[in-house]
Amino acid sequence: MPDSAKYIFVTGGVTSSLGKGIISASLAKLLQSRGFRVTIQKLDPYINVDPGTLNPYEHGECFVTDDGAETDLDLGHYERFLNRPTSQANNVTTGKIYQSVIQKERRGDYLGKTVQIIPHITDEIKRCVQILGSKNDYDFVITEIGGTVGDIESLPYIEAVRQMLWEKPKDTLVVHLTLVPYLSAAGELKTKPTQHSVKQLLEFGVQPHILVCRTEHELPVSVRTKIARFCNVAQNAVIESIDAETIYDVPMLMMEEKFDEVVLEKLGVDASQPRDLDKWKSFLERYKNPKTTVNIGLVGKYVELKDSYKSIAEAFNHAGAENETRVELDWIHSEDLNKDNLKERLTGLDGILVAPGFGSRGIDGKIEAIRFARENNIPFLGICLGMQCAVIEYGRNVLGHSTANSTEFKEYTPFPVISLMAEQKSITNMGGTMRLGSFPCEVSQGSKAYEAYGTESIDERHRHRFEFNNEFLTEYKEAGMRPSGINPDSGLVEIVEIPSHRWFVACQFHPEYKSTVANPHPLFVGFVAASKEYHEEKSSKKQSKEKVAEE
Ligand code: GLN
Repeated sequence: MPDSAKYIFVTGGVTSSLGKGIISASLAKLLQSRGFRVTIQKLDPYINVDPGTLNPYEHGECFVTDDGAETDLDLGHYERFLNRPTSQANNVTTGKIYQSVIQKERRGDYLGKTVQIIPHITDEIKRCVQILGSKNDYDFVITEIGGTVGDIESLPYIEAVRQMLWEKPKDTLVVHLTLVPYLSAAGELKTKPTQHSVKQLLEFGVQPHILVCRTEHELPVSVRTKIARFCNVAQNAVIESIDAETIYDVPMLMMEEKFDEVVLEKLGVDASQPRDLDKWKSFLERYKNPKTTVNIGLVGKYVELKDSYKSIAEAFNHAGAENETRVELDWIHSEDLNKDNLKERLTGLDGILVAPGFGSRGIDGKIEAIRFARENNIPFLGICLGMQCAVIEYGRNVLGHSTANSTEFKEYTPFPVISLMAEQKSITNMGGTMRLGSFPCEVSQGSKAYEAYGTESIDERHRHRFEFNNEFLTEYKEAGMRPSGINPDSGLVEIVEIPSHRWFVACQFHPEYKSTVANPHPLFVGFVAASKEYHEEKSSKKQSKEKVAEE
């Protein structure tokens, strides 16, 4: 089938962290709102094969796709904006490119040729970009190139873009995201960094078609004219990207700048189909006009870097909007929690979430937080390690096995209530070897999970090695912890609950990965609803107490 997709590359200049992911996702949203089929891909110039082995402090959360790819967190934004799943093909790293080229070399595919960056590495990059467009699934493939133009490691990617522009001039477009800083001492917006960064691209043979200029102040016409003139772009192709109150405003701001129209015009695509952004607007309306606020404690060990829990924070935004509630997150470092400060630190919260994680650092604080939520009937959601800790806590404090533990933290323990999955026991390589991606789960009727999902059959994404040890299942059930979600193929426990508690749900999978603006995740929606109810109950109790005191 001929490749009819249009390719849009998004590069970044001047500094990192300008928000290429959000700009790419916003453009995709606008194109999608006109009825086009769009996907977004991220090329990461680092040598790791995937971010699965990276510590969250490096690049934030590792996002997991349905097909089990461990990817950059930007893919989370793509899914949240487009409400479409991404896959292995949507995240490519230098490590993956080299791995594939070296495998081909070992197989003898290059027939004795010297294997070089050009053409072999650049060909592989182009192949990975065009895989997405080749199946006729998409009208547009937006490819975000990680890093900043001029970085040594991104050079082969820019060269691949140059080649694609040469090979498919009508179907390829380059958007360059740059910064227009404001110098307060001079009281002026400065265009020079943008000029330099476009010059740098030109040195590599790439003339960007559109410049998206990140700025803290509106760009006056004079500044737009200057940028257009010095950077060889049309004036309407200088797009202002002013700092926004929330990332969800960016598609609307880009619409006002007619970003998608300029893109369509440059690619010779008919732009007459109007945009349908009604759903998006109604989300924004609810998100920005909450009727109440709930305070939810997020207990984790990477809270210094909030990007480590990006999908969780965004899932709360979606679920908050759904409940017409603002979710205020209280980021609590699990290492700072102990028996002495627990009450003081956690009292007043309307809900407690214990986050995913690996290794034993901060475990005691997590277990204490769960005990506090359980004993004080505070809504609780545990995710992955959060569920494992909930099981350990119950084992220790309700079943009375004071040494109950996960074999991740103590290899030999008399009560291994969480243990390594059988298929994991022989694995020695760390990369890509966990239980990854989407697995089915059967939810029991009458449970809180069923109430939230409204269905028995669900699919959720996983990323872990350890699991609930079914040898202890009967004991837990008898003591009041209910397995409310089970994998129908393996019998693995995927959700546990405490029916006697107002809302205590913990899951082995990661619901946050599947929450989108159009489809807020049911468990987050249920958790926020329970927290809201608890909050209201506390307020009305307080009010009636005050009334009694007055009388
Ligand atoms: N450390 C746990 C495991 O590997 C949980 C992982 C997680 O929270 N993603 O099973």
